[in-house]
Amino acid sequence: MDNLKYDDPLLLELIELEAERIENTIDLVASETHMPKSILEEMGSVLNHKTIEGYPGKRFHAGCEYVDIIEKLAIDRMKDLLQAEHANVQPHSGSSANIAVYFSVLDVGARILSMSLSHGGHLTHGHLTSMTSRCFNFQHYNVDLQTELINYDAVARAADQFKPEMIVAGASSYPRLIDYEKMYQIAKSAGAYLFVDMAHIAGLVAAKLIPGPVPFADFVSFTTYKTMMGGRGGVILCKKEYADAVDKAVFPGTQGTTAVSNIAGKATIAKLAGQTGFINVQQKTLDNAKLLAKEFLKKGYRLVGGGTDTHQIIIDVTSKGLSGARAERILESTGIITNRNYIPGDTEKKASGLRLGTGPISVRGVDRNHVVQIADIIDNALMNPGNQEVSDRLRKDVFEICRQFPVYNSSVPE
Ligand SMILES: *Cc1c(COP(=O)(O)O)cnc(C)c1O
Repeated sequence: MDNLKYDDPLLLELIELEAERIENTIDLVASETHMPKSILEEMGSVLNHKTIEGYPGKRFHAGCEYVDIIEKLAIDRMKDLLQAEHANVQPHSGSSANIAVYFSVLDVGARILSMSLSHGGHLTHGHLTSMTSRCFNFQHYNVDLQTELINYDAVARAADQFKPEMIVAGASSYPRLIDYEKMYQIAKSAGAYLFVDMAHIAGLVAAKLIPGPVPFADFVSFTTYKTMMGGRGGVILCKKEYADAVDKAVFPGTQGTTAVSNIAGKATIAKLAGQTGFINVQQKTLDNAKLLAKEFLKKGYRLVGGGTDTHQIIIDVTSKGLSGARAERILESTGIITNRNYIPGDTEKKASGLRLGTGPISVRGVDRNHVVQIADIIDNALMNPGNQEVSDRLRKDVFEICRQFPVYNSSVPE
């Protein structure tokens, strides 16, 4: 970054410190990953110059001959990868994608049935603090408090009574698979659209390692920077009949110009996702999550949903006398980065959960022995809060693992 050195040395220093932080900590944030370098290159490229509105071949500015090809590639590759009838690659984020889906076929005030936040849903699924709850009439379904799994009969009953125009399936914090076929049947008998938000799991679905929602859902949205590894942004997939409505809801409905550099990242990840490097990372992500879950169960931690079928593990840390926030801070001081999360039964005053994801460590190629060691480090740290000697020793162990599995000399698909 020779130019930044002159224009803003402070920013260069901060970026270098952040790069060091990434190399020297173990990232277990379920919504993060390490992007391929090629995608970082695209995002910092001249593609940032171009202002585009509209869609390939129908722009509002001249000079689009190359960016049109780029956006067409992103659309076609995403459609191919996920067997979708239509793709819109312009959303700036998962939230913008979701808002565009709602506005594509619903009027303000429409009834939407979705999963509540504390049971795993997302803010944009009608949480009180989200603009979505001011535009639409949301009702929420919960997981069964015993099994912490979605109770499809209860969802069907709620749909029967509430008569939603749209049902949302998909979650930010739910470690088990969702039965999209059942959700489709519920939506169909309610006469509702089915919208699946697969933000967290898109990479696993793209690698065809877990079932995907595309054949069942009218609309699918996802973020491209979580397990998908494609840089910041969102994508909407939909059935052909809604293509025009979705495109209009994105532009000009809810966004103006879009980021060509991010669209390039989406195009490249849709290409890489068909290759063995990407699929291997996703397989390792699943294997490592299962292994971590097994280790925590052995150590007496209670896991939400009893385990995992995805990259996520949600630990009820109250089973060890801690709050989610305290656990997050203790681990941060040993170089393990996680985030606290609500779990079923929480009021929104306190998060009892700690959510872990195995995407980033799998990209780094951390092997099974070291995944077991990471579980030991986490357990040791959580069981010895305030013990500086233990904390210092664990921090050294974390450094050593990081040194052995560097982020940018690893299994990141090039
Ligand atoms: C992360 C996430 C989003 C939102 O994505 P942003 O890019 O943060 O706007 C939407 N839905 C779900 C289920 C998510 O996990």
